[in-house]
Amino acid sequence: MNPTSTDILTEVRKRRTFAIISHPDAGKTTLTEKLLLFGGAIRLAGTVKGRKASRHATSDWMEIEKQRGISVTSSVMQFDYEGHKVNILDTPGHQDFSEDTYRTLTAADSAVMLIDSAKGVEAQTKKLFQVCRKRGIPIFTFMNKMDREGRDPFDLMEEIEQLLGIRSYPMNWPIGSGKQFCGVYDRVKKRLELFKGGDHDEIEVREVSGYDDPLVREIAGDYLYEQLQEQLQLLDIAGDEFDLERVASGELTPVFFGSAINNFGVQTFLENFLQLAPEPTPRNSTQGVIEPTYEKFTGYIFKIQANMNPAHRDRIAFLRICSGKFERGMSVKHVRVGKDIKLSQPQQFLAQERDIVEEAFPGDIIGLFDPGIFRIGDSLTQGPALEFEELPTFSPEMFSKVTIKNALKQKQFLKGIDQLTEEGTIQVFRTTVGFDEMILGVVGQLQFEVMEHRMRAEYGVEILLQRLPYQFARWVVDDKIDPSKFRINSLLVKDKKDNYVALFENEYAMRSAIEKMPQAKFLETAP
Ligand code: GDP
Repeated sequence: MNPTSTDILTEVRKRRTFAIISHPDAGKTTLTEKLLLFGGAIRLAGTVKGRKASRHATSDWMEIEKQRGISVTSSVMQFDYEGHKVNILDTPGHQDFSEDTYRTLTAADSAVMLIDSAKGVEAQTKKLFQVCRKRGIPIFTFMNKMDREGRDPFDLMEEIEQLLGIRSYPMNWPIGSGKQFCGVYDRVKKRLELFKGGDHDEIEVREVSGYDDPLVREIAGDYLYEQLQEQLQLLDIAGDEFDLERVASGELTPVFFGSAINNFGVQTFLENFLQLAPEPTPRNSTQGVIEPTYEKFTGYIFKIQANMNPAHRDRIAFLRICSGKFERGMSVKHVRVGKDIKLSQPQQFLAQERDIVEEAFPGDIIGLFDPGIFRIGDSLTQGPALEFEELPTFSPEMFSKVTIKNALKQKQFLKGIDQLTEEGTIQVFRTTVGFDEMILGVVGQLQFEVMEHRMRAEYGVEILLQRLPYQFARWVVDDKIDPSKFRINSLLVKDKKDNYVALFENEYAMRSAIEKMPQAKFLETAP
């Protein structure tokens, strides 16, 4: 029996699904861990990392992860907090991230941008931010490591604006930094949260009448007090006003200062976030906009992960629920193949342990056992056939020519390439002139290593990868394409669907090609 839309609405209201975007070392693991602790999802700090490490042992292609001490995979964690159900979509933290990381962001309704206050906006944060920006989702900023000497908070705000093009609204403001860090002044609640150092669960809170309250001087001392008056007055006069609509459309980011490792400012952040962040949002489909309260279960696959369990050759397809209620064992239509399938082994991810899930609601992510029937972007529905908007593809930035060491294994080789590209972390191209050669394109270097390893382990094929000097790929749309125009520092290839793609060694080569062919379009993603 289908639940009513009121049942679903109650569940939808509880949910917040977000991803943390940051550069490696900003403190994402630490912040995630603290958030999970508030939710009681794990008992001990350090567990997230601990699990990461133990999971390595379970999968042999993840040897690569172990050797390099990084996580290739992104996963999902769910926890409860004061009546809310929170889903955190994890994104690989190393710079060798993949297209999966980007795609995972399409399953989130908002993002938390985590910044190391000593470093400011770094490369990977910028890339991930741009993907969020394109979707126009709200972005919340956590300015981390305030217990260390960091950069001037105004500097950091300015950098966010300059590099990312988003205005910021500090929800609280730091009093001093590094050794002198006293805590923050909460601009919304007009109170002081005092920093005592150490991992404390309860922060000392002092109510004040405003930032010019004598108590602030008493606690901060003359120097920091004067500094705080100046800074906060400036913010009140020249800063942006808080505007929830601008937050919702991703034009204004609420900023919170804190220190994840000291558990300082994390709870305040979480509480504000839950209040301001959106509930699961509607998604576009071929049948129009699908509201989360639509009674029929619908969802789409945004990521496929191979071999989480080395005992099986299975894959896990990650599905974002868009509407209705999911129940274990239910039958749904697999729209692309036009068949009904039974969802009998769904899994949910709690602090990276896999549990069988009995029911789930919009905003939740479930992992479906995949014997090879799913592709990225597949839609599942309990009602009339519909397909959700196609997921964006992202332009690869690294390229290698791929050949096979033993020509007798050609068949396995092609099968392997086919299946691995279907998972969506590697794109395959073919040359258009001279010998027919195969070129692989990825977003992160690690994908090459994963590819090499999996081809050997799963298909018994040794491959040779030869790195090519290209850095940019653009899909070329033109009535008549002349391959001879792509000779200097560039190469014209075709993608799987026979679209022309130009690879360029540098921006200069790309710009001159664009100038030479004004009638052609050069697209960052496949047309
Ligand atoms: P990730 O790579 O983003 O997941 O970062 P981690 O959570 O592993 O943190 C990177 C390093 O920064 C670790 O050594 C953490 O202990 C440290 N770290 C995280 N948060 C803070 C903080 O608030 N203050 C200080 N001083 N160090 C922190």
